[in-house]
Amino acid sequence: MAVIHILDKHTAELIAAGEVVERPASVVKELLENSIDAGATKVAVTIERGGVSLIQVADNGSGIEAEYISTAFIRHATSKIQTQEDLESIHTLGFRGEALASIASVARVEVLTRTEPDEFACCYRIEGGEELGMEPGARPIGTTISVRDLFYNTPARMKFLKKDSSEGTFVGETVSRIALSHPEVSVSFIREGKLLYKTPGDGDLRSAVYAVLGKEFARDLLPVKSSMGNYSVSGLITPPRACRASRGMQFFFINGRFVKNRTMMAAMENAYRGTLMQGKFPGCVLMLDMPAQLVDVNVHPAKTEVRFARENDVFDAVYGAVKNALGQPGSGEQQFQFTAG
Ligand code: ADP
Ligand code: MG
Repeated sequence: MAVIHILDKHTAELIAAGEVVERPASVVKELLENSIDAGATKVAVTIERGGVSLIQVADNGSGIEAEYISTAFIRHATSKIQTQEDLESIHTLGFRGEALASIASVARVEVLTRTEPDEFACCYRIEGGEELGMEPGARPIGTTISVRDLFYNTPARMKFLKKDSSEGTFVGETVSRIALSHPEVSVSFIREGKLLYKTPGDGDLRSAVYAVLGKEFARDLLPVKSSMGNYSVSGLITPPRACRASRGMQFFFINGRFVKNRTMMAAMENAYRGTLMQGKFPGCVLMLDMPAQLVDVNVHPAKTEVRFARENDVFDAVYGAVKNALGQPGSGEQQFQFTAG
């Protein structure tokens, strides 16, 4: 007969970590989101060997008070929500309190952080979930988190990684999505010793698009700005003549979070109907802002899926906004239909 027993703490921790940290890009996403939640206006992301040997995220955010640093690495420790009610309206990118604990259980982590009232910074080290200690350090206000040797203690996970250059590309996608959704934050991305871009952080989406996606793509984009009830849609779209052969340049965000969403994509593409050649797809950076209670972002920590309470409203808002931007005011009554692909 099978013996049923409760897993030891270490094994349970590794399984939980696997939910959050799949690859270097997941670490980068969590660290960058923490920087933004901490109010940073400048963030620099550095990776080496695709993020496998080093991921470093340095910000000028609030910093972490010395007495809370080790708490921040405990699973379900967060400063962002307190009660069940708070879950109903989340205004930060993080809230689960799982990222730092997960990362620290599968890598060697160093935190150098300083808050406003403190004269010195604090340097804290934790490896494979084991605290190594804390010592004074120096840096301006903000936090630098360095993650080295990801999965050094979980060879099975390490084996699932792709080659370094592919992992570096995934990291790049993650950094780009965050840089695009936060044009008010200056994001630098340094990959294998080379500065790939630095967004100006001036709050202008077009200048962030220029830095991240290149001047050719940024040049002709049409501005989108419309709202319908509680839904507002803004961003940039390609004019029909500049459409391309793939959907690779479509970026959708809801309440500041990158999403992959069929409803938004279908609404956007339907608005171009009749203006596009077969096999051509519009590019876009579209931000939907909507009531937090009507969108469930709680589907999975590391995933980009969302669920809507009123899917048709989302469709109508995006469709109408894109139609307007294309100079063809939308009725909002277009049939909800997915395009193939
Ligand atoms: P969550 O983001 O869900 O709260 P994390 O494990 O990512 O959980 O972080 C735990 C806590 O550590 C955060 O709630 C925050 O208080 C603190 N923290 C993490 N990163 C930073 C940072 N870059 N600057 C300031 N505080 C941070
Ligand atoms: Mg977090």
